[in-house]
Amino acid sequence: MALIVQKYGGTSVGSVERIQAVAQRVSQAAKLGNSIVVVVSAMGKTTDGLVKLAGSISHNPCRREMDMLLSTGEQVSIALLSMALQEIGQPAISLTGAQVGIVTEAEHTRARILNIETKRLETCLQEGKVVVVAGFQGISNTGDLEITTLGRGGSDTSAVALAAALRADFCEIYTDVPGILTTDPRLVPEAQLMDEITCDEMLELASLGAKVLHPRAVEIARNYGVPLVVRSSWTDEPGTLVTAPPQLGRSLVNLELARPVDDVEFDTNQARVALLRVPDKPGVAAHLFGEISSQDVDVDLIIQSIHEGNTNDIAFTVLKPILNKAEAVASAIAPALRSHPSMEGEEAEVMVQNNIAKVSIAGAGMIGRPGVAAKMFIALAEAGVNIQMISTSEVKVSCVIDSADCDKAVATLRQAFDIKSSPTPPTPPTPHTHPVRGIALDMKQARLAIRHVHDISGTAAKIFGLLANSNISVDTIIQSQRCHIVNGIPTRDIAFTVTRMDAESAQQMLQQAAREYGWGEVVLDNAIAKVSIVGAGMVGQPGIAAKMFEALAQHQINIQMITTSEIKISCVVHEQEGVKALQVIHQAFGLAGSEKVQVPA
Ligand code: ADP
Ligand code: ASP
Ligand code: MG
Repeated sequence: MALIVQKYGGTSVGSVERIQAVAQRVSQAAKLGNSIVVVVSAMGKTTDGLVKLAGSISHNPCRREMDMLLSTGEQVSIALLSMALQEIGQPAISLTGAQVGIVTEAEHTRARILNIETKRLETCLQEGKVVVVAGFQGISNTGDLEITTLGRGGSDTSAVALAAALRADFCEIYTDVPGILTTDPRLVPEAQLMDEITCDEMLELASLGAKVLHPRAVEIARNYGVPLVVRSSWTDEPGTLVTAPPQLGRSLVNLELARPVDDVEFDTNQARVALLRVPDKPGVAAHLFGEISSQDVDVDLIIQSIHEGNTNDIAFTVLKPILNKAEAVASAIAPALRSHPSMEGEEAEVMVQNNIAKVSIAGAGMIGRPGVAAKMFIALAEAGVNIQMISTSEVKVSCVIDSADCDKAVATLRQAFDIKSSPTPPTPPTPHTHPVRGIALDMKQARLAIRHVHDISGTAAKIFGLLANSNISVDTIIQSQRCHIVNGIPTRDIAFTVTRMDAESAQQMLQQAAREYGWGEVVLDNAIAKVSIVGAGMVGQPGIAAKMFEALAQHQINIQMITTSEIKISCVVHEQEGVKALQVIHQAFGLAGSEKVQVPA
């Protein structure tokens, strides 16, 4: 006999017939002697409908009232599912988030779960009832019992949090696809089902656009070691297991506000190669990294900055012992990378730097908490450490700095994030036949670029501190390699992506800061798409980046930005080329299965 939390998404409860089918499935599991808590989403596209309704009354509706409105969708489905269960003889009771005691912070429309009361749930389960809980909602921890919601897609998070609080044997997410696939089957019908995936890989995929799981649900599963399965609501196939590292024995208090950073890591065995002024046209990154991988040189971080005029800068890091080899490759191809073949002097320039170090903060509590990266930049600024390159992932923020600053930076970060344990060695990657597990597309991002920000310590802290104060999460941060002297001050461009929803307010805020600090213009581009490959097995495997870039080049898709972390590579391309980019990359890595996935409307 097991305690199971099952979650059914909107499509799975989208009609009376589907609710009845869910009731059958739930009651079968209960009849086997299991205790079942069911979490449900609003029926079909109810939540979208409610958002639209609000939009027809107000351009900028008050967040409190949005929560009041959106939380009603789930209240309908819990009552109907509970009735359907009772109708087939299965005792059941529906409970709202407030009735359970899913206590959240008072942040309307994006609240984090602080605590879950389990008493009432346990009593109902002991009485032999199936408990049907409304997903996506909670009640604020302030005295006035405000209804809150967790953010779109948040029912997954409700389910995994309930499983953690109840110490359930496992949590099953039932949805309209067979499990977690190599990419979205609505865009690539040949996407293949994965039997299992690690939490770290899934965290990246979910945050980079794979909406099959809410990233925060994966974060909780990782932090509390909740066994998590994603399966189809229509079949009995086993689906995909999301594997979590061993339980860390965390306290359940402040569940989603758990310590965001577990570790500070550093690596002084790195060197940097930068190619300045390479032409901004398809195929350049493919050419460069194709050559590099043919020499068996493994690159770690890669960044390509926004283009200026018609040229780009690309920088990458390699292990020190292979710097000479990497430099030789870059220098050999530089003459071929001319922005104007007819013009002399426009040749790409190679710059190498041996005295660098990479410092990183790592932990699975950074999602949607822009303050964490900002705190890192502020701590480094206060210690007088200048940041040369930034790379972000869902579980790590890394900064490339001068190696002379490394000890100081590590000590500062350990103090800032209260890290007492000695640094842990990085976990070895899980070997997979495919180093690339999944591909995600995010069409909801915008790019902001600030021209000519001062190249001095404290600049990143200013920019990202400002955005963090307004709760704006930033991804894909890139500083240009090229330095311009403006009024005697060295400056660089800095670019990053934010969700489109936040883009305009971020731009306004930064324009004001730019006036104050004397930076250049703040440019916004909404017409972008971000396509990313994810896989823990790509660490230490030369040629993965080259293959991705080559696939894009073959289809004449220009790469506007590149950013990597250890387990992902993201490229920003034009919005119109997003879906095509996803499809050709999926194909290039041979991820297609032999059968097409059927996805219900
Ligand atoms: P639910 O209502 O069950 O929560 P969602 O619509 O939120 O369902 O998430 C399921 C959808 O996620 C699928 O229908 C699919 O289109 C999309 N999806 C995106 N990426 C993936 C992926 N890698 N694997 C499976 N589904 C994906
Ligand atoms: N109904 C909510 C939404 O559509 C929550 C969810 O389905 O997970 O975002
Ligand atoms: Mg969902």
